This record gives sequence, C-alpha cells and structure tokens, in this order.
Amino acid sequence: MDTLTGVTVQISQNFDGGNIEVVSAESAHDIRLNIRHDQDSEFYQWFYFRLSGARNIACTLKILNAAGAAYPKGFENYRVAYSYDRQHWNRWPTSLANGVLTIEITPEQDSVYFAYFAPYSMERHADLIARSLQSARCSLEVVGQSLDGQDIDLLKISSGGSTPTKHCWLIARQHPGETMAQWWMEGALEWLLDPTNAQSRALLERCTFFVVPNMNPDGSRRGHLRTNAAGRNLNREWAAPAMDAAPEVFVVREAMAREGVDFFLDVHGDESLPYCFIAGVEGLSGWDESSQAQLDFYKNRLADLNPDFQTAVGYPPKAPGEANLTMAGGHVGHHFGCLAMTLEMPFKDTTATPEPTVGWNGPRSKALAHSCLLAVGDYFDSKVSQ
Ligand code: ZN
Repeated sequence: MDTLTGVTVQISQNFDGGNIEVVSAESAHDIRLNIRHDQDSEFYQWFYFRLSGARNIACTLKILNAAGAAYPKGFENYRVAYSYDRQHWNRWPTSLANGVLTIEITPEQDSVYFAYFAPYSMERHADLIARSLQSARCSLEVVGQSLDGQDIDLLKISSGGSTPTKHCWLIARQHPGETMAQWWMEGALEWLLDPTNAQSRALLERCTFFVVPNMNPDGSRRGHLRTNAAGRNLNREWAAPAMDAAPEVFVVREAMAREGVDFFLDVHGDESLPYCFIAGVEGLSGWDESSQAQLDFYKNRLADLNPDFQTAVGYPPKAPGEANLTMAGGHVGHHFGCLAMTLEMPFKDTTATPEPTVGWNGPRSKALAHSCLLAVGDYFDSKVSQ
C-alpha cells in the first residue's frame, strides 16, 4: 500500500526472460529492486520486469545493486527501454548515484514493462523459426538440447542449386542478455528468405548460410545476462566444450566440423561502448597481411553500407599469438582459417547516428543485418577473399 496515494503498485518478473528481485515496493516513491544473478554465476546486468497499478503515479524505481553488475559503466548515461504495448520500446532517462540506478517515471497506463534492452523472448524465437521454415530456401536441424531441455536450432538457408557454395555461419546470443543479437538474426533471416529480394537471391547462388539464431535458449528464458543454465559463459567454452556443461557449444562445433566454415560472424552486444563495431582475431598465431586485408575489407565495406557501423572505436586488437581460442571467433578462425569476426552492437545508442527516442533497438539491429549480408557478397566477390 502506498501511504501517500492509497494505491498498490506491483512489480512482477515471472515470465519468459524476466529478471528482477523486489526488495521493497510498499511505496511508489521508493521501489527498491535488485537484479538477480545468472544461475551459479557472479554475472548480472540483464533486467526485465513489469510495473502495474501505477498509472498517473509518480514512481521512483531504484536498482540497488547496479554498481556490482558485470559492466557498471553500462549504466552510465544509460536510458532504460520501456514499453506499454510490448511491441514498441522507447527510452527513458535514468540517473546513477552511489552505485544505485534510478528511474523516475509517471506511467501513462496501468501496466508498463522495463528492460535493459528490448527483449527477444523464446516464444518469439519459436515464431521466428516456424516462420522461416515456410520458405523453401530454409531447412531446420535440431542439433541438440540445452541443459533445460530446449532445442538448439540450426537453420540452413540455401538456393538449392547444385553449384558449390561458400559456407557462411552466423551465430547469435551466446550471451543471452544481448537481445539485440537476436533482433539482428530476425533481420538476417527475413532478408535472406524474402522471395522478392534480388540481392539475397544472388547471394544465395554463391553462399549457403548456416544460422544459429539463439545459442543460449536457457539463459534467454531464465533472464540471464551472460551464462547458460550451468553458469557457463558459452563464449569461453569453444576450446573443449563438455556435453554436461556447455552442450550448446559442443553440438554447434560438431555441426561446423561436418559442414566446414568459409565465413563466420558471431553477433553480440556491448554494455558500455556506444558504437557498432567488429572485433577480429588479430591475435591468431597465423595472422598475416592477407588475414588483415580480409578483415579490413569487410569492416570498411560495412561502414560504407551502413552509417550506424564504424571502424574507429572498438576493442584493441591482440598481439599475434595472444588470441583467446576459448572464444568462438578465435576457435573458428584458428580451426578453419577463414574470416571470423565478432559483431558488437550497443545497449545504449550510436554516438554518430543517435536516435534518442528509441536508442539502439530491434529495427536498427535488423537493418544492420541486411548491410552485413550485402557485405558478405561483396567480400566473396573481392580479390582479398580469393
Ligand atoms: Zn557478448
């Protein structure tokens, strides 16, 4: 009961991808919350919850444990995603003081959802797979099950022709809280499967795509930031994944070994940096001028195609021999000797091309995917890929 207004406000999170713990919600002016840790892990940062019963009431929501999150800088200059209709997500300012993230808002409706980024639920994932399979270009292989018993879905997108093609692998959401990665996947699949798109038709004459739209269904449904149901960070499991700890990586790695890899993109989100960028695997021991030329070509082409992507800011490249082979990009680049990259999109917004109302969001992630695929075609047309 709110002592000032006589109205009860409620916070709930028991739904697909939900994450919050209520410390106290007795007063709308002082709603105190904590973000739940990933299972068997110290990581936390993803949150997703519903506030109800607060229409036209000035609410103050405080996330008390923001300072201990995996990437506390992610909460500096951060605008929270919120939605009334669960379709359109806008941004609202927050403030950070003494390690507490505060949202002050007067909801316009009886129910409002807040999330670290626009969610991408496992139900939406199931819809995406089913919708994609309506295309004759698309086939499904369930390569295994997660620890919670969810399917690991691998989609193959092919023109069905008999000419040999390049095998391009796209994977996303090893880190389940990075939902922009699966929005990107939705854009990629829609673009590849659009029968009216002459560019995708031409690309599929040369390339077959193997797509894992969600590498971590358990973390996604459980509302994790970074790990699977066993608390494993899947992007540190690629050197020697165990079936009882990281089956998601084990089965996808097996499928890659079977099919071969000529191009690899692992799609992620970055909590702190307000940029879209690509991290290469310059630290591989066999990295040479030709590897660098391939990476530079792809990044520069993508920057030409889409102003939301840039090449000036990103992670500093590692020195030769210092690549992390437990990461997907390191493993694939080392094992298959192909162009292997990690794409990062922001949780916040892009510095040069900001859209303050929505921040970086699902539709912009989807549009970037279209550009990434166009750049794949240009890459295989170029001399550097020969
Ligand atoms: Zn990530």
